[in-house]
Amino acid sequence: MVSPIPPAVAAHVPTGVLVDGQWRPAHSGRTFPVADPATTEVLFEVADGDEQDARDALDAADRAFAEYRTTAPRVRSDLLRAVFDTLVAHTDDIARIVTAEGGKPLAESRAEVLYAAEYVRWYSEQAVRLDGLARRAPAGTHHQLVLRRPVGPAYLITPWNFPIAMIARKVAPALAAGCTAVVKPAQLTPLTTNYVAEIIRAELEARGLPTGAINVVPSSSARTVSGPLLSDPRLRKLSFTGSTEVGRALLKQAADNVLRTSMELGGNAPFLVFADADIDAAVTGAVAAKMRNAGQTCVAANRFLVAEQVAEEFTAKLTAAFAQLVVGHGADAGVTVGPLIEQAAVEHVGELVGEAVDGGATVRIGGDPVDRPGYFYAPTVLGGVAPDARVVTEEIFGPVAPVVSFGDEAQAVALANASPFGLVAYAYTRDVSRALRLAESIDAGMVGINRGMVSDATAPFGGVKQSGLGREGGEAGIEEYLESVYVAL
Ligand code: NAD
Repeated sequence: MVSPIPPAVAAHVPTGVLVDGQWRPAHSGRTFPVADPATTEVLFEVADGDEQDARDALDAADRAFAEYRTTAPRVRSDLLRAVFDTLVAHTDDIARIVTAEGGKPLAESRAEVLYAAEYVRWYSEQAVRLDGLARRAPAGTHHQLVLRRPVGPAYLITPWNFPIAMIARKVAPALAAGCTAVVKPAQLTPLTTNYVAEIIRAELEARGLPTGAINVVPSSSARTVSGPLLSDPRLRKLSFTGSTEVGRALLKQAADNVLRTSMELGGNAPFLVFADADIDAAVTGAVAAKMRNAGQTCVAANRFLVAEQVAEEFTAKLTAAFAQLVVGHGADAGVTVGPLIEQAAVEHVGELVGEAVDGGATVRIGGDPVDRPGYFYAPTVLGGVAPDARVVTEEIFGPVAPVVSFGDEAQAVALANASPFGLVAYAYTRDVSRALRLAESIDAGMVGINRGMVSDATAPFGGVKQSGLGREGGEAGIEEYLESVYVAL
């Protein structure tokens, strides 16, 4: 198979570390391979950053911060607007890199690029709308001003499943607020980050702004890079997207330095279907909520909780919809489901399905890895799953839809809330009062009513419970990069 990245695009993918406006090899000279999960073929060797590269990157971010923090909001806004225009103009090129290293179908990769670009556009607009406060103290003794200023150099760690969206959600508000950044992309998908970082670097340089405002340290050892950064008092902010397990460990490390932290962590989204729902619409929403990126999203519907009156109808129709999905290389025409990210993921999904079946679940479709090169698992529907099966209680991160039936609304809510996670919940019902009750009673940072997709650059994205701390997107997203300074006069 030819590389899914066209040569004209591949020629512009930086493979180094980016420090102070320069792409260069890692300090150690070492590299690590980045492979296509649909074929296992190596696409690129990328510089393997270490402690020294991390320190160099923070030195650059700290130096750049002294100047960048003083730039006019309009200058930062124009910078981001230009980056937005370039991202949109290069949608197809970037989508090919996203598909090559992450596996998702090209149509999804294009959608991810445009979704990511919206964060950049939104924060270009927010950069000039940062409000403080001015008022007379209630006792009349003085005036109170609240000024906003950037928190400082920020360390941004991203996962592999949305290699452009996750970085856009962090870098855009950071740069809009006047912060500088050190980025550590996921080891499995550093190519998209490097390509996008070069677009930002070039815009900074073209405008005479400090190019050290964005630095990137790809690495095969996240711990090696993170240790020296998190303990350095010049770092003032950590924003992490990834698993709850790693987020918890990072919070402990960040505590020693009393860092501002944002944590976008794992999910276990319930997808509720009530007897009064439009079942066909619920099935369409279910396919969208479950199958994007082959089920490897933090907002993937993980547990289908369906009223017992309609459980068989819903399961049969979902099975029919899954039968229409086309599994293959994401760059091939017509493919709707790509590979999982690595072999361990195929094995993990297989284990969860096997245990569910042992516990009495029925495989309605799928239930096996796909026999072809790469890391593929067949779209799978499981009926009659026990609510305490691991496939229900754990984040699956694969194309498997377990269906659990419920009796009444109270039981549905209890099942939905029986999880330490609380990122997003989906509910299908025609009863508006019930919809509002659910929005108030389900433990989740986001609730989609009669919709299989909720995320939007202009709205706050984030979780409750062990799904995280803080929000990305909307007005809230930039607050994570700002301090409030109270002035009494
Ligand atoms: P992961 O936690 O394994 O890795 C995420 C990032 O952290 C990667 O860059 C990795 O290199 C780095 N990392 C790993 N160990 C580290 C350590 N000890 N110190 C510092 N950095 C470390 O997660 P993943 O497998 O890349 O992504 C999947 C997870 O991310 C899922 O749990 C998913 O739900 C979650 N996720 C959450 C959101 C959200 O917005 N809430 C979005 C996407 C993904």
